[in-house]
Amino acid sequence: MLPEASARTERVQFAHDSEAEFARILDFYGISWLYEPRSFPLRWEDDRILEAFTPDFFLPDLNLYVEITTLRQKLATEKNRKVRLLRQLYPEINVKLLNKKDYLRLVAKYGYGPPDAKKLPDIDRVLFSAGQIQRRVHELGARISRDYRGKSPVAVGVLKGVFFFMADLLRHISLPVSVDFMAISSYEGDSAGAVKILKDLDLHIVKEHVLLVEDIVDTGMTLNRVVERLRSQRPASLKVCALLDKRARRLVDVHLDYVGFEVPDEFVVGYGLDYRQRYRNLPFIGTLKQELLS
Ligand code: 5GP
Repeated sequence: MLPEASARTERVQFAHDSEAEFARILDFYGISWLYEPRSFPLRWEDDRILEAFTPDFFLPDLNLYVEITTLRQKLATEKNRKVRLLRQLYPEINVKLLNKKDYLRLVAKYGYGPPDAKKLPDIDRVLFSAGQIQRRVHELGARISRDYRGKSPVAVGVLKGVFFFMADLLRHISLPVSVDFMAISSYEGDSAGAVKILKDLDLHIVKEHVLLVEDIVDTGMTLNRVVERLRSQRPASLKVCALLDKRARRLVDVHLDYVGFEVPDEFVVGYGLDYRQRYRNLPFIGTLKQELLS
């Protein structure tokens, strides 16, 4: 049995800087890892192990052991031999020997590519990787499909932040679903204003089963307003599905029927969510550097 995959870089003594760097990259992308969790005997005589190999990392999400090569060719050749032997003796084990180029490509699979300070100047850290989001959205879609079995719900999204989530969620709902969108004004320091409906529903929802889909619920004020508006049109039922719940900041107590992830009290961007209209197209959800918001 392997230990819990919750190791963080600061709690682990790494043998080499390259391993610490790899762990930091995995942390940045929200990929869980274990450092040297298991040794594989490679040669033995009776009960005595003559040679063993301990890969540097195990990545539970990928079911993959990773060994990182250093730059010295002699060491790399020796590691190659051990990895070949490990594959022969334990064919069920996935193991990869990575040079620097390889491992940057591996993390790129999980999102935006290797962290590059010039490309992502405002992102502090990744909260949910593209892979984590997809898995959670799949689960939510399966639950909604079960709960609405035999019905044809109307999914209503509130623009713009919800467009990634809506598109992915609907692909995991195995029911005939109608889709509509609303757009509302957001508060911009105008004390005379109230939430305005900029785009109302095209569909009639009287006696329909409505699933309101939201990107993030913060104070709850927006959602509360939208729920009131939808209720006034007398749907048969109304449930709310929010990808992110920033519960710590709630002012209006709105009931959420389905929640993707709870998020801390920080400003988040990506996967549809913006900061001054930027970052919506990031495939992961990350937090912004604090200094940008102060
Ligand atoms: P609420 O009315 O619940 O306070 O705010 C909801 C709306 O505020 C969301 O639909 C979203 O547009 C915006 N919002 C709240 N928190 C965040 C955040 O952390 N990041 C981004 N990009 N938008 C947020």
